[in-house]
Amino acid sequence: MVSNVEKILEKSSFSRDDLIYCLQTEGNEKQRLFDQAQKIKARFVGRKVYFRGLIEYSNICSKNCYYCGIRAGNKRYIRYRMTNSEVMEASNYAFMNNYASIVIQAGEQTNKAHVTRIESLLKKIHRKTNGKLHVTLSLGEQSEETYRRWYEAGAHRYLLRIEVSSPELYLRLHPGDHHHEYTKRLESLKILRETGYQVGTGVMIGLPFQTIANLADDLIFFREFDIDMAGMGPYIEHQDTPLYQHKGLLLPLKERFQLSLKMVALLRIMMKDINIAATTAMQTIDPQGREKALMVGANVIMPNLTPVKYRQDYLLYENKPCIGEEAATCMNCLEARIYIAGDVIGYGEWGDSRHFKKRTKVTL
Ligand code: SAH
Ligand code: SF4
Repeated sequence: MVSNVEKILEKSSFSRDDLIYCLQTEGNEKQRLFDQAQKIKARFVGRKVYFRGLIEYSNICSKNCYYCGIRAGNKRYIRYRMTNSEVMEASNYAFMNNYASIVIQAGEQTNKAHVTRIESLLKKIHRKTNGKLHVTLSLGEQSEETYRRWYEAGAHRYLLRIEVSSPELYLRLHPGDHHHEYTKRLESLKILRETGYQVGTGVMIGLPFQTIANLADDLIFFREFDIDMAGMGPYIEHQDTPLYQHKGLLLPLKERFQLSLKMVALLRIMMKDINIAATTAMQTIDPQGREKALMVGANVIMPNLTPVKYRQDYLLYENKPCIGEEAATCMNCLEARIYIAGDVIGYGEWGDSRHFKKRTKVTL
C-alpha cells in the first residue's frame, strides 16, 4: 500500500494540508520524509557543509521579546560588547581556519555609535582579508540607511528571523508596543532584500500557543517570500523571561526536537537550493542535534567563535552548549561529527545560497 506521505512527495508543490499531515508523521512515514530530504540535499546543494564562524558581538539589547534570555528587562546578565581587537581576532581565527565566512550577531541597538562601530568593523575585516571573508549580520531591525551602509561596508548576508509568521501569535510573544511590530519585521525583510542582501529568516518551533497549522503556514511563508537562507530551531524556555510562565503548555523537548527536524526536512524538499542552518538550539536538546539536522537537509553550521569569557552572558535560552569551550576545541569535535554524518566541509568556500544566485542571476 502506498503511504500518504508517498503520495504527497510525488507532488510538485505541497498544500497547507499536506504540510500539516507531514508535520505529524511518525515511524516509517517520518523516515521516508527524512530520506527524501537527504536525497534532495545531495542532488541540489551537495553533501557539503559550510561553516559560518559565529561572533556574539554584544548582549546589549533594547528589546523585550518575551522568549529571549538577553531581553533588556533581564538584569541577570552582565552586559558586554566585544572590543574591536577581539572581533578582529575571532575573524582572523575564522579566516586562518578556512571558514570563509562569519556571522556577527548581537542584541538589537540602533544608536549612531553602534551603527558606525559595525560599519568600521566591516571595513576593517574586508581590508584585513582582502574581501575574502564573507560577513553575515544578525543585528535585528534597522533603518534602510543603516542596512545600506553596512552592505556597502562589506556585509552581504543578513539573518532576521520572522520568529513566527502569524501576526496574532507574534503579538502574544512580544510586547504590544511600536518597538515590537510584526509589520516592521516584515518590512525590514523586504528592505534587506531590496538592498541586495542574501536574506535569511526563520522561526522558533514548539512555542507556547503555536499550532501545527502555524508551522505549516511558516513553511508557506518561506516559500512565498522566496528566502535564500533559513535558520530554524526549537524554542527553549528561559526562566528569566515572561514566556516561562506558560511552560506547562510546552511539548517535551524531544518532541520539539523531532518537530524541528521535520520542519528542516520539509523546507529542504520545498526549497531545494537554499541554505539551511543546523542550529545550536538543536544541539542543546540532543548532543548530536546538529548532525541529525545535516542528515535531513541542513547544510550550514555556525561554530561559536565568541571569547569564552562572554559566553555565559549570551544565553538566549538555557543549557546552551559549548559555553566553556574555546574555538579550537569546538572545531575538532565538529569536524569529526560532520564526517560521521557523511558530509564533507566546504573549507575556503563562501557557500553562497544557490537560490540567491539563481534569483539574482549574478555570479558572485
Ligand atoms: N537580536 C537579533 C539577533 C539575536 S537573537 C534578533 O533578534 O534578530 C537571535 C535569535 O535567537 C532570535 O531570532 C530568536 O529566534 C532566537 N531565540 C531567542 N530566544 C530564544 C529561545 N528562548 N529559544 C530559542 N531561540 C531563541
Ligand atoms: Fe533582543 Fe533579539 Fe533577544 Fe529580541 S530576540 S530580546 S531583539 S536579542
